[in-house]
Amino acid sequence: MEKTELTERIKSAIVDVPDYPKKGIMFKDITGLFASHQLFKDTMHALAAETVSKLGFKPDFVAGIEARGFIIGTALADEIGVGFVPIRKAGKLPRDVVSESYDLEYGSASIELQKDSMPEGSRVLIADDLLATGGTASAAEKLIKKQGSKPIGFAFIIVLSGFGSKDALKLPVFEMVEY
Ligand code: AMP
Repeated sequence: MEKTELTERIKSAIVDVPDYPKKGIMFKDITGLFASHQLFKDTMHALAAETVSKLGFKPDFVAGIEARGFIIGTALADEIGVGFVPIRKAGKLPRDVVSESYDLEYGSASIELQKDSMPEGSRVLIADDLLATGGTASAAEKLIKKQGSKPIGFAFIIVLSGFGSKDALKLPVFEMVEY
């Protein structure tokens, strides 16, 4: 399937919600993409294929950021054929963690990764649903380095290009649609 055709199918499944969760934010609701079995499968297949072909190798792990990054990340890890590691909001993981605080497009947060979630030195692809300011993505990158592993790139369904964060991130960014 042509990427442009798939891009159009993805775009038609995304619903813009103005002023959510705060005035001035145009929230991209991708629950319709998850609800369509065929579209979600095609999307994750294409994102995995593009990521691995452009990287030129398979990552050792995919790390997904809570909560929508879990959905994208596990599907992507399955498509690539590697394990999944969760990056969670503070206080949710039961064993020893590394932490990182950061600013969001709306508010601020801390994320955590279990110290022994993967062998040190693992090559990790970071997955989330959407890239906006890049605060979450940069924090995830730092977190993986703190754990002793090696972030090698990012995969998103959506990149909001107005923030310029795709260029600001030093690692390669793979996405299905840009606005
Ligand atoms: P950022 O750190 O600014 O790049 O924001 C990315 C994170 O916030 C992702 O986990 C997204 O799920 C969420 N997010 C930020 N802006 C939006 C938006 N306009 N629509 C949907 N999710 C968003």
